[in-house]
Amino acid sequence: MINLSRPNISEQAIESVARVLRSGQLVHGPESETFEQELAVYLGCREAILVSSGTAALHLALMALDIGSGDAVLVPDFTFPATANAVMAVGARPVLVDVSADTYNLDPQCLRQTIEGWRGAERLRAVMPVHEFGHPADMAAISGIAKEHGLYVVEDAACALGANLNGRKTGTFGDLACFSFHPRKTLTTGEGGLLTTDNPELARRTRRLRNHGMERTDSGMRFMEPSLNYRLTNFQAALGRAQLPSLDLWVNDRRELAALYVENLAAPAGEGLLTLPNADPGHSWQTFMVVLDGRFDRAEVIAKLKAVGIESNLGAQSMQEIGLYGDALDTCKVGPHLYAQGLALPLYERMTPDQIRQVSESLTAVLSGAD
Ligand SMILES: *Cc1c(COP(=O)(O)O)cnc(C)c1O
Repeated sequence: MINLSRPNISEQAIESVARVLRSGQLVHGPESETFEQELAVYLGCREAILVSSGTAALHLALMALDIGSGDAVLVPDFTFPATANAVMAVGARPVLVDVSADTYNLDPQCLRQTIEGWRGAERLRAVMPVHEFGHPADMAAISGIAKEHGLYVVEDAACALGANLNGRKTGTFGDLACFSFHPRKTLTTGEGGLLTTDNPELARRTRRLRNHGMERTDSGMRFMEPSLNYRLTNFQAALGRAQLPSLDLWVNDRRELAALYVENLAAPAGEGLLTLPNADPGHSWQTFMVVLDGRFDRAEVIAKLKAVGIESNLGAQSMQEIGLYGDALDTCKVGPHLYAQGLALPLYERMTPDQIRQVSESLTAVLSGAD
């Protein structure tokens, strides 16, 4: 079976986790502190704050900005539901904005229209662009629009560790940014996540919010505000640290494999059987998703690929189609289409060029009816 993705855990990484387990220091500790410093250097941001998942990072980001009941937050229609769920979790209202068919990311034009047409009772407070599948969102346009309208920017960079826009890493553009270390992402700690910011006040608030709202003073601990436990463990941090030096190599391998998909799927794309993703040079390729033409039943395509030993899946969800998040101001069209017809193909750095060719040939055969 060619799997959709495979975590890349070396024996050396396992050994570094074992060392932490033997040390007995299991919760937030020295490995966590060092990993935070290494991540801040890697990303080029002032503050990196480890948390227990990407979802925890999104939730804490909104809490740190005091977003809650009576507020509304703009989120792309096409994403993993965690983005919109975090908005719901703080009691705010997600407002859905359609994505662009080229990039699968928040469409700045739709963002502007949605903001200018907003007549809801809630106050618009923030926009959460998602770098979907590792493709950097148009941060210049999105930040410009946010600034004009006094909105915070919280990047959902869950898929986008290692991606960049003209050399500047994703996760360094917003007031806060959120990453995930879930096994489906390129660097994994099992569960795990990260918040980044250049704002020391927001960093301080986030650090205490991940730890029961507690701060340490000379006289001991002091509980400053009600909060939760969203800490990452010391041994998870060790697992992440062991992978970080390889990350850029892995992202490069993924870029080469994605380019090979584009080359090998040019023929079916030319015949209109599928649409290929747009290949921005800064893309980190957490996922390679093509969009099947409307004539195909995706479930059938997935089953046929599975029968020849290839795992595939849908890419991400349309919040509008899930139907849990209220209405979009304008009905989203692109997001629901990507949700219905998007097909994620196997991609991980240890895949071979032959496997990419095999997947491409099998998919072409299935779509041409020649399987
Ligand atoms: C994976 C993902 C998340 C959630 O991260 P977890 O670590 O699984 O909580 C959030 N947003 C997007 C876009 C994701 O892809």
